[in-house]
Amino acid sequence: MNPTPGRWHGNQFYFGLHYDLHAGKEDTELGLRAVPAELVPLLMLSGADFVQTDCKGHPGYTSWFSQAAEASIPPKLQADALQGWRAATQQLNLPLHCHYSGIWDKAAGEKHPEWTLIGPGGDYTGPPSPDSATAGKPERMCPRSDYLDRLMIPQMLELVDRYNVNGFWIDGDLWASEPCYCPRCRAEFTRRTGIPEPPKEPGEPNWPQWVSFALDSFYEYVARYCDAVHKHSPGVLVCSNWLQTFRNPGPPVAPTDWISGDNAWIWGMDGSRCEARFISTRGKHWDIMLWGFFCSHGMGLPDSPWTFKPVQMLQQEAAVTLALGCALQVYEHPESVRSGQLIHWRIERIRQVNQFVKARQELCQDTETIPQIAVLHSEHHTRQNMGRNLMWGVDPAPVQGAVYSLLENHYNVDILDEWALLPRLKDFPVVVSPEQNDLSAEMVSALKEYTEQGGKLLLSGTG
Ligand SMILES: [Zn+2]
Repeated sequence: MNPTPGRWHGNQFYFGLHYDLHAGKEDTELGLRAVPAELVPLLMLSGADFVQTDCKGHPGYTSWFSQAAEASIPPKLQADALQGWRAATQQLNLPLHCHYSGIWDKAAGEKHPEWTLIGPGGDYTGPPSPDSATAGKPERMCPRSDYLDRLMIPQMLELVDRYNVNGFWIDGDLWASEPCYCPRCRAEFTRRTGIPEPPKEPGEPNWPQWVSFALDSFYEYVARYCDAVHKHSPGVLVCSNWLQTFRNPGPPVAPTDWISGDNAWIWGMDGSRCEARFISTRGKHWDIMLWGFFCSHGMGLPDSPWTFKPVQMLQQEAAVTLALGCALQVYEHPESVRSGQLIHWRIERIRQVNQFVKARQELCQDTETIPQIAVLHSEHHTRQNMGRNLMWGVDPAPVQGAVYSLLENHYNVDILDEWALLPRLKDFPVVVSPEQNDLSAEMVSALKEYTEQGGKLLLSGTG
């Protein structure tokens, strides 16, 4: 479908196990039970074709003894978890990827506040927020800071050299990002646009230019770590979690090797229904990572404990993505177990999901839809109407509403941005444009021509 397919290990690597625990300063027992004697039997039971494991989470601490000069290691760390995972996966001949938090690194922020993202009021910004500007500790990185060259890239290359890892799944990246008001970013914005001062709030003049600049800055940051890894070791694959997915329409310019997103602790199936229909148009290998567990009354609340999902629930979530041609991962995080031990009954459920997936692999893998209805999800409209967070600031509701209505009426639906739809417009008998009020002139002109030639266009919205 696309002339530049992404790279992947091969079609036989179809079902992955993702394990992370976001190591923190107080952790002591990480890796004590992440040893081949314990991991190998359970990895075999899971049937995983590839494995992703903990490396550095949002707290910024490693679950292994990094030798990078700027590394943060839990002071009482006793064992090298990564060494255990590598030995076990090597024994089973499985690719091993690192779960590595990119933009969000609390330990790096504490050591180097000058590396961090600055809010509109000149404050540090604290943890990621879905929409509003926040003030807090310095814990998210500015994409133009020295973080990339002094910690992230050296540590990624160290992981390749010392552990021979096969890939990186960079977390805490797009969804942890927002426009940065540090002097570096402000100066570069003015240099590129000629606009002397960035706006402070969505809706102010020049906000679309400012948020577009932030998106471009993020893509450039991703490209720098991708290029560094590929130059060092061309066979190692890189993914930035949620990049080039449903809430990030537009040409997939950053040179990641595959697309993935963790979906989700709640409403997993409805989330996947849109994600799968959009990501499948990106022209890269892709997977959806299903959270293996959920909570129903709010994340982290005392009356809302984490519960492992029933097998049938995971199978249902898997089905809607497999049918669109993707691969799959299941995310395991045994809440209070910090030693790296995998829990047998939970892995047994993952095995049953794997069995369901593999039984459908031959039919589903790399399948493509037969074009019937295209729902337009314009990157031009998105950039004109974004909030502050580079992922959660995109309002997907109009597209979701259109997609769910059409699916419930048993139509086949693809979700395409302008980049994907323009070359394929004539393939679709029907195009739906739900409240896409700020299309590019090129898209408007193409849609006019499309209707003149007999295409059916449904516009919704006001005005
Ligand atoms: Zn900055």
